[in-house]
Amino acid sequence: MLDIRNNHLIIDDVDTVELSEQFGTPLYVTDKTKLKDNFQAYRSAFPKADIYYAAKANWDLTILKILAEEGAGADVFSEGELYIATLAKIQTDKILFNGNSKTDSEIEFAIKSGVKISVDSLDELNTISKAAVKNDCEANIAFRINPDVSPDTHPKISTGLKTSKFGILESEVICAYKKACDLPNVNPIGIHCHIGSQILDISVYEEATLKMMDIAQKVSSFVELKFIDLGGGLGINYKKEEKIPTPKDLADIILPIFEEKTELIGISPKLILEPGRSIVGDTTILLSRVNTVKKAYKNFVGIDAGFNLLMRPVMYDSYHEVMVANKADEKVEDTYTIAGPICESGDIIGSDRKLPKIEKGDLIAVLDTGAYGFSMSSQYNGRPRCAEVVVCKGKANLVRDKETFEDLVAKFN
Ligand SMILES: *Cc1c(COP(=O)(O)O)cnc(C)c1O
Repeated sequence: MLDIRNNHLIIDDVDTVELSEQFGTPLYVTDKTKLKDNFQAYRSAFPKADIYYAAKANWDLTILKILAEEGAGADVFSEGELYIATLAKIQTDKILFNGNSKTDSEIEFAIKSGVKISVDSLDELNTISKAAVKNDCEANIAFRINPDVSPDTHPKISTGLKTSKFGILESEVICAYKKACDLPNVNPIGIHCHIGSQILDISVYEEATLKMMDIAQKVSSFVELKFIDLGGGLGINYKKEEKIPTPKDLADIILPIFEEKTELIGISPKLILEPGRSIVGDTTILLSRVNTVKKAYKNFVGIDAGFNLLMRPVMYDSYHEVMVANKADEKVEDTYTIAGPICESGDIIGSDRKLPKIEKGDLIAVLDTGAYGFSMSSQYNGRPRCAEVVVCKGKANLVRDKETFEDLVAKFN
């Protein structure tokens, strides 16, 4: 939780100014208590469901370990994410391997690991069957279904539109499951969809759940469905609006439909959800030092973190709240535009923010950077990635070292 004490921003009882002095900047700081609370909010809203955390949102090993201890499964989108989820001791029977373009080696690795696979095309189904036969094992699969719904979110994170690259069309579903029944060594045991991300108008889940239950009914006439996976996508409160939907609100939409329809069809599949952002998004802040302040077209504040560490503002025009962490209690004095150090004019973390007076050396905190922050980072401009710290009730733990210049050149021959 964020607090203010002695004019400083405090995260789970740890002073951010002290963190910046101890570990340097830029620095990602994650609040473990909040992370556990966010996961448990899903647990209590969906007591009978399995929660498969979407690893791509943030695959820091410590974060995955904390979630594994809380009982999370994982939705993984690559061999690397599967590798690290297993390392974090997430049970393989609680992992779904996703991807619209999996390599043959990824498919083999997934089959041999014994995880469930979400199949994105009939072509891929053939590949999976052949790989399973070759390795003399069975592949438990679901098809990723494109439910053709339009959530009100940024087009780049809307994944269930009929024009999207993900999933098979509703019209192909029956044929796909029949084919899966006919092919050797594949067991169709689930259905899967994921409609998008940062969804705040959750009424779209009603449409998606109804469509998926409709498909479940048709498929159930010849397949025993063990799970129905409705994906992730719940949004978080980046703009600090008054009211935004919680896992409980999502449950109030999904569960009545899920329960009524499963009873009607006469099946008892497990419900699976795959939240990413709503588990980690608001657990983390990015601390960054002010290098320079100048008056040009605007009041530009140059900080030491840019889109090399936080891609979202550039990639999705995302809004992140910005605070001056060492002047957390001071009154607004001017309007500032917070710019990263990257050699691209688009490298702006926040535009036209009303903040206390900013000077060289001040500490900027960019809020809600736990999801799609570090996991999308790069070494662009020859900048080593920064360190990551996890704080818990007054204590700070360095969980990832800052990269070095040797790391930058480590793979050159
Ligand atoms: C990205 C993704 C998620 C998580 O989405 P959030 O918006 O972070 O909750 C879940 N499932 C799949 C298949 C995804 O690709």
